[in-house]
Amino acid sequence: MRIAILALQGAFIEHSKMLAQLGVESFEVRQAADWEQPKDALIIPGGESTTMLKLLRELNLLAPVKQAIEDGMPVFGTCAGLILLAKHVVGDVLERISTMDTTVCRNAYGRQLSSFYIESNVKGIDHAVPMTFIRAPYITNVGKDVEVLAEVNGHIVAARQGKQLVTAFHPELNDDLSIHRLFVEMV
Ligand code: GLN
Repeated sequence: MRIAILALQGAFIEHSKMLAQLGVESFEVRQAADWEQPKDALIIPGGESTTMLKLLRELNLLAPVKQAIEDGMPVFGTCAGLILLAKHVVGDVLERISTMDTTVCRNAYGRQLSSFYIESNVKGIDHAVPMTFIRAPYITNVGKDVEVLAEVNGHIVAARQGKQLVTAFHPELNDDLSIHRLFVEMV
């Protein structure tokens, strides 16, 4: 198994370290040529979704990435990745990857609580999962094909639709491998 990690900006190295601990090979996608390499899945990391979107467009990666996901390639988006995959973002109409039937509120926790850590349950995982939120979004609405995997303070923070997995938190910043293991099992 070989997983592509979008490496335009943000926390991408941490994902490759998590995958390595699971014995899974990964490579970084920095330009369109990298995307041509054989791959079984994609990870879209946290960072700044507007910057990542701009780079995806400029590098001619937006359309092929969207197409691959629509064709069934498994994808895991954390934080900014969750935003890029959402069909709707509260308060704006930018065209993103937009493959997941979710509505997302960006920077949803405001300034006071912009970053925080908790441990909470995720469906299908048998222990409380460490969750680091950094200027995080949350999901406000999901379509009928979306399975909610975790809620924190009444807000959806992890979900799955077919082969698409998203978390509002950053599992790659703690040493618990269970979310990455869940994704690898999906792949
Ligand atoms: N606030 C960022 C955005 O809107 C996401 C933050 C993150 O990925 N940690 O893109």
